[in-house]
Amino acid sequence: MDALRSLYEEVILDHNRNPRYFNKKPELSNRHAHGDNPLCGDHYTLDLYVKDGRIEDVGFAGEGCAISKASASLMLEHVKGKSEAEALAVFSKIHAMLTNDSDEIPDMSDMRKLKALSGVREFPMRVKCATLSWHVLKAALDNNSEDTIQTE
Ligand code: ZN
Repeated sequence: MDALRSLYEEVILDHNRNPRYFNKKPELSNRHAHGDNPLCGDHYTLDLYVKDGRIEDVGFAGEGCAISKASASLMLEHVKGKSEAEALAVFSKIHAMLTNDSDEIPDMSDMRKLKALSGVREFPMRVKCATLSWHVLKAALDNNSEDTIQTE
């Protein structure tokens, strides 16, 4: 657990200080969703550009605690360039990892940094902070808008 703990601290700290794709809106975007975690005050908007079933570009904006921000940043770093199906599969793994009572952590050998998020299970009050952006991602992918919105 010590190795996981230090990985957790290292990754959360890094992504909170230097969140990837934060306050960045993709030049083209066609999937959007917003999510709130009133327990903590975290709220984020996600913009994605999905083309031919692949997540080509990503960005998020909003405010929240270190865990929620780091989780969103880690997530976008991981899903950018992936297919929608791959991103939804990762959502399922992360959701199971964070919310299952079992001590079993799914096989995430290809997802070293995301595995760091499992450290949040030591702090049950913060699990919703970590899962928020993943729910927003799922909502954005489910929201199959045909419109492509171009930022000015
Ligand atoms: Zn939070």
